[in-house]
Amino acid sequence: MTETNTAAAAQTLLETITGISAAPTWSAPGRVNLIGEHTDYNDGFVLPFAIQHRTHAAVATRSDGMIRVVSTFDQKPVAFALTQLDEFFPHRRDEVVEWARYPLGVAWALLRAAGLDASTATGVDLAFSSHVPVGAGLSSSAAIEGATASALADTWGITLDRVALAQAGRTAENEAVGAPTGIMDQMATMLGHTDAAIFLDCRTLEAAVVDLGFADAGLELLVMDTGVKHSHATGGYGERRASCERGASIMNVAALRDLTVDDLPRAEALMDDVTFRRVRHVVTENQRVLDTVRVLREQGPTSIGGLLIASHASMRDDFEISVPELDTAVDAALTAGAIGARMTGGGFGGAAIALVARADVETISSAVATAFAKAGFAPPATFTVSPSVGASKDA
Ligand code: ADP
Ligand code: MG
Repeated sequence: MTETNTAAAAQTLLETITGISAAPTWSAPGRVNLIGEHTDYNDGFVLPFAIQHRTHAAVATRSDGMIRVVSTFDQKPVAFALTQLDEFFPHRRDEVVEWARYPLGVAWALLRAAGLDASTATGVDLAFSSHVPVGAGLSSSAAIEGATASALADTWGITLDRVALAQAGRTAENEAVGAPTGIMDQMATMLGHTDAAIFLDCRTLEAAVVDLGFADAGLELLVMDTGVKHSHATGGYGERRASCERGASIMNVAALRDLTVDDLPRAEALMDDVTFRRVRHVVTENQRVLDTVRVLREQGPTSIGGLLIASHASMRDDFEISVPELDTAVDAALTAGAIGARMTGGGFGGAAIALVARADVETISSAVATAFAKAGFAPPATFTVSPSVGASKDA
């Protein structure tokens, strides 16, 4: 589906529930993380970029103080009074249908962040359509949050900056959805830039735009979506966070960000093997992000391959968040000539990325498909992503 089609699908869906045609639309991108995995909630560094796949929201105001959301996923509208959101979030969130917690959670967080009175705020209908793959590690969740935050900020005349809108998205995800994720995805979605990545310090929320130069170097970033679904609200993600907190507390620091590779021998002496390996991943990954930024600036993108490969090995062996499908995709891409490759996103499924010469996209994609078939895995989806602009009102 193209961007125009996706925006039009959101408008059509809005029309079916409101009768209003050609309503204005806002949109926000998914993101891919070039490097820096599970570092965000450790106050560390990440280097994501917003991708060309976006979630669109068509928006109409209403006079009764209600908020109603509907998605092309199931076409079933979910409605609440704006004054009711406080009753459901965070404690009764389980009574709200899961997908609707993302946009409704953003509305709830934004009202609070802007100090708006829910009883006088303008009611709104939002219809969503998306071509960000869901659960693929490309952050469809941040995309729907970003589209909602951007649309509601404009509709309600809120003048919060982009960082505050990203924070509202994170609040929604943490408190309204119940997924204990960091702020990387929302920052990438809000701050995205054409041809560049966002180098983010997750402690200070300072962000710098880092030119990627993929196009000039004749490179493409290939996404290999394994189709293995993950969920942040359950499973290993929370466990990894707990290990990191344990490691930081054993080392007597506020967050693992405060450690460097020089601290690792002491860490190893103080902790059990599993906690130590979790800590080592985060500490070395932070260093790899810093190194990647430096290499991009000094040598250009063709020189970052080794850092991507080392990042994957660390996630596979130390953080233990890879799955056989991700390892197969990475190995097959590298064997077929990729400059670098790694799993991306929270892990336990989702997608891997490979940095490849433009001329090799087809060969490498089919090598990955062949390796999947040989291993008995369902065929992967492979496609290229390019760095794109952040959340905005559509033209
Ligand atoms: P990821 O962000 O990696 O794609 P998550 O589990 O974090 O995966 O978020 C995916 C969830 O976000 C979906 O299961 C759904 O609840 C919600 N979501 C994302 N995009 C949409 C959409 N366009 N319409 C409805 N729900 C969506
Ligand atoms: Mg997500």
